[in-house]
Amino acid sequence: MENFPSVLESISDLTKRQIDGLMELSQQIKLRPWHPISFPNKKPIIATSFLENSTRTKHSFEIAIHKMGCTYIDFIAETSSLKKGESLEQTLLTLFGQGVDLCIIRSAVSHELAQFKENPPLKIINGGDGTHQHPTQALLDLFTLKEMGIKLKGKTFCIAGDNIHSRVGHSLIDLLPMYGAKVLLFGPEEFLPPVTEESNFEITHSRSEALEKADILYLLRVQKERHSHLESIDMDNYHREYGFNLEMIESLQKKLPILHPGPANIGVEISDDLIHSQYYLGHEQVRHSTFLRMAIIQSILQNGDKSIGFKENTFFNN
Ligand code: ASP
Repeated sequence: MENFPSVLESISDLTKRQIDGLMELSQQIKLRPWHPISFPNKKPIIATSFLENSTRTKHSFEIAIHKMGCTYIDFIAETSSLKKGESLEQTLLTLFGQGVDLCIIRSAVSHELAQFKENPPLKIINGGDGTHQHPTQALLDLFTLKEMGIKLKGKTFCIAGDNIHSRVGHSLIDLLPMYGAKVLLFGPEEFLPPVTEESNFEITHSRSEALEKADILYLLRVQKERHSHLESIDMDNYHREYGFNLEMIESLQKKLPILHPGPANIGVEISDDLIHSQYYLGHEQVRHSTFLRMAIIQSILQNGDKSIGFKENTFFNN
């Protein structure tokens, strides 16, 4: 794939053509999931470095790496020299010097990876940075919808819940309009961004309006770990006012697909009966995540960028 970025930080790093290419490659991989990658003269070495909790993203990348026949390094930030005050850049250059080709990084700090775009110390995939972006989640959601035969063009995609703190929501807002979807955000006022002239989404505080307009409903977890003490959401009332249950979905005159990036908080944004129903596609998202992440790994490893890391130091040789 032409010019695939060496640092995939945001959805905006990719063109529509590159995203279409990822969808096609993911489909091919789905048919042949053990998909060893050929790489000039060496077996690729790939590390994950998760500086925040993860179940799905970390493991699906790890499984993708194994299925591609690459060597996997689980870089544990907690026991690394990052804790001795080493910068992330020096840490990544160290991994590069040791032969690591690509690192998937999750950071609690929004935009932390932007500093690496100009001179990448290593190839990097953003595994989620603060409240900013989670591009591989949005891309796997798009892939899941395609594989489930759910069209986006002209459809209303409603993202419900803690929109303002959700990096997944932010990546979806950037991605979905490229495929002709209208984005509607639903939630309490504290969880919705302001609408400006440039906004490519609409907002509503009304759950019945959200249900009436939505063709696809995407639920978000309340991101408590990112709330400042100023935000006072009453969690006991949250489900009653902003959560969704099976009865609400069954009362509609349409089959409404329900997606969730996980982890879901049952009894908060989603009821127990809804998560166990046919409407819920969360497990399909997980199933499709590995194929899409394999396609991203292959595209980034094979992008032909030779300017990564540091050049051999020959200063003292002459
Ligand atoms: N797993 C997603 C993320 O890392 C969603 C969430 O945590 O609510 O952003």
